[in-house]
Amino acid sequence: MKGKETTRSSSSCAACKFLKRRCTPNCAFAPYFQSDEPRKFAKVHKVFGASNVSKILTEVPEEQREDAVNSLVYEAEARLKDPVYGCIGAIALLQRRMAELQHDLAIARARLARCAAAASPCPGLLGDHVNMGSSFSDLNLLATKWQW
Ligand SMILES: [Zn+2]
Repeated sequence: MKGKETTRSSSSCAACKFLKRRCTPNCAFAPYFQSDEPRKFAKVHKVFGASNVSKILTEVPEEQREDAVNSLVYEAEARLKDPVYGCIGAIALLQRRMAELQHDLAIARARLARCAAAASPCPGLLGDHVNMGSSFSDLNLLATKWQW
């Protein structure tokens, strides 16, 4: 916290620089938009507007403000990449991918059950395993990226 105070007194925060105003010691943006992160504020300002971001920050308890800012930045980046759907586009894509992977898994389990019931080697299973391997690694990648 002391480091932030020092930074604040020596230079304006990214928000005040962007808005071309004087940064005060009580600036609501300063702890979350450091002077060396100008693009971070520019994104949230473009999508939400500085006054809305300020209102959100004052409504959120102080201990949750950093999370709120991270969420706003994430949503702003998603909205800038996909102006129509924003975060919902990413969520829908992941849900669709998850449904596809669950479908693939159900097919693989059914084939495995058939092979086990027949109690004989299943020639097509090895090829399917290779495909499922890549699907599982995709699923693991999604799980590590989207831990909510
Ligand atoms: Zn400021």
